[in-house]
Amino acid sequence: MALNVHPDIVSLLPYVPGKPVEEVQRELGLPQVIKLASNENPIGPSPKALAVLAEVAATVNRYPDGGASKLRSALAERWKVTPDHVILGNGSDEILGLLARVFLSPGDEAVMADHTFVIYRMEVTAAHGVPVVVPLKDWRHDLSAMADAVTERTRLLFICNPNNPTGTMVDAAEVEALMARVPNHVVVVFDEAYYEYVRSPMFPDSLAYVRRNRNAVVLRTFSKIYGLAGLRIGYGLATPEIVGYLNRVRPPFNANSLAQRAALAALDDEEHLAKSRAMNQEQKEIVCAELVALGFQPLPSETNFLYFDVGRDGRQVFEALLRQGVIVRHIEGRMLRVTIGLPEENRAFLAALKKVLS
Ligand code: PMP
Repeated sequence: MALNVHPDIVSLLPYVPGKPVEEVQRELGLPQVIKLASNENPIGPSPKALAVLAEVAATVNRYPDGGASKLRSALAERWKVTPDHVILGNGSDEILGLLARVFLSPGDEAVMADHTFVIYRMEVTAAHGVPVVVPLKDWRHDLSAMADAVTERTRLLFICNPNNPTGTMVDAAEVEALMARVPNHVVVVFDEAYYEYVRSPMFPDSLAYVRRNRNAVVLRTFSKIYGLAGLRIGYGLATPEIVGYLNRVRPPFNANSLAQRAALAALDDEEHLAKSRAMNQEQKEIVCAELVALGFQPLPSETNFLYFDVGRDGRQVFEALLRQGVIVRHIEGRMLRVTIGLPEENRAFLAALKKVLS
C-alpha cells in the first residue's frame, strides 16, 4: 500500500550532522582525523561530570527522575527563578520541537532569520506551521525587519543569539526595541546555545524578559561549553505557564539519568568552564589572525566557531580539507564554518587549509 505522508513532512530533508571522525577515517583510510564541525568542546567533558557517570551507570536499570527535580532546582537557583520556570530537553533541540507542537496550529507563522540554525525551519514545518524567513543584515539578525514580519498569525519568533552559523550577536538595545514592538500573542525564543562563550558586555539579558513575565523562552545547553553533547541535555527557562504547556507534550523521561547527574556536576565545575572559555578565546584570536593573514575576513564571533568566505566553492574546499583529515562544516556557497579546537587541532586545520588553497 502506498504510504500516506503529509506533504509538509515529504518536503523536509533530514538534518545533516557534522561527519563523525570514525566514518571519515574509514572512508578515506586516514589514521588521524580532526573534527571541527559541530562546535563541541575540544577539551572534553567536565571531569566532575565524568566522575559521577560511573556511579549513575550502575543504576540505569531504573527510569530517570521524570521531573528532574535536582537539576531543575539547581538551574532555578543559578538563574534566580523558581523550578517551575525550568524545562529540560533531550538536547535543547527537543525543546524547539516541543515549542512548535505547543504553539503552532496548521498555517500559523514562525519568524526566523534566513541564515540560522536549521532546526527552527524543520520543526515549524513538521508542526505544519509556516516559516517566515527574514534575511540577515550585515550577517546579523535584522530585528527591526523581524518585528515588521509579525502578523496576527505569528506564534513564534526565533532569535539565535549568538547566531549559528555566523557567530554574530544582536545586542541589548536591539532586543529591547524588538520586545517593545512584539505583541503578546508571539512567544520570543532566545536560543543561546553559545551563551557561556559570549564576551560582549552588550549581550542582552534575555532572562529579564522571562522574569518580567513576558512570553519569552531562553534556551541553553550542556552540549557546548560543558562538553556533554553526547549525553543530550539542554534546558529552557520560561514562565510557569509556558513551561506547563511544554510539559504536556514532553515525553516523560526525556532527560536520561546519566545526563541529569552529569549536568548537575558540570554546572558546578567553574574550573572546567573557565579553562574552556579562556582557551577558546585565546585560540579564536590566533585562528582569526591566521585567517586574516591568508586574506580571509572571518565574521566577528561571540562563539566557539568562525564563519568565513573561502572565496571559492565552499563544498570543494570542505572536501579537500576532509581528504587532509580535517572535518569542518560547509554551510552554503563559499561559506565555511570551523569550530575552535585544541591548539594542535587549529594548527593542523590552518596547515591543511594552506595546502588546499595552494
Ligand atoms: N541551538 C543552536 C544554535 C545550536 O547550534 C545547537 C547545536 N548545534 C542547538 C541549539 C542544539 O543543541 P543541543 O540539542 O545539543 O542542546
